[in-house]
Amino acid sequence: MPATPNNSTQKNSVPLPIINVSGYRFTKLDYLPVLQADMDAALRATGVLGTILLADEGINIALSGSREQIDCAAQYFQNHANFQDIWLKESASKEIPFSKLKVRIRHEIIAFDGAGASDRQLQRPDAPALDPVTLANWLEEGRDITLLDTRNTYEIESGTFTTAEHLNIAHFRDFQEAIKSALSEGRLSLDKPTVTFCTGGIRCEKAAPWMLEQGFKEVYQIDGGVLNYFEQTGGKHWDGDCFVFDDRVEVDKTLRPTGATWCTFCQLTIAANQTCSCQSSLTAMEIV
Ligand SMILES: [Zn+2]
Repeated sequence: MPATPNNSTQKNSVPLPIINVSGYRFTKLDYLPVLQADMDAALRATGVLGTILLADEGINIALSGSREQIDCAAQYFQNHANFQDIWLKESASKEIPFSKLKVRIRHEIIAFDGAGASDRQLQRPDAPALDPVTLANWLEEGRDITLLDTRNTYEIESGTFTTAEHLNIAHFRDFQEAIKSALSEGRLSLDKPTVTFCTGGIRCEKAAPWMLEQGFKEVYQIDGGVLNYFEQTGGKHWDGDCFVFDDRVEVDKTLRPTGATWCTFCQLTIAANQTCSCQSSLTAMEIV
């Protein structure tokens, strides 16, 4: 990798004071209300904002704060037997993209199977992680793979891989039906090696093993999702930006906010310095 910064990195070299972290872990959690209360109190004391989802299958984390606040929050996870060494991916922004701290209990940390999700997940084969640099090489050499975007249509409008297939879904809970339709219509093939991707990897943790269970012969998931792909490769073969589920709405290939906003009325991403055609005032987006 060349060490010389190019013009675009120089343009973006103004330091941004807010650290955003996201991560997840699938691990069996017990006594969720006790854990919720403990975590809520500990994180509230650090001053971070964001959303944590807890389920008996694991944890999904999206937090934001100053460097010191985030380090304190990370220490809380580090000190907790279930969350040690959890991979918290970082990006920076000028402002905090959350309005409050929420620690919520759900059936699943990412909705896919409904009740009984963790048992079903355990019965499925593991889908290997594919590191971003390997994927970039595969794309460079034009390898014959299906690159499957597991995200929703409104996210894909912000950007995706130039050669990605997608399912035109509005919610991840529609993923399973959409795959079955795509197979029956011949838009996807069980025999072709398939690489799935989503923002940070969590959806693919459900989607890829489920696809193997459905008879796909070879399924990989991008390690750390699109955000890690951007960090590791600079976003080669990607067209546009990446939608994120907080007030940043989109980040570019350097993981910086693009300035886009979200119209909650039209459910649309609005480009930087634009207003929605509905003229409705733009309001903050909430992950849950
Ligand atoms: Zn609108």
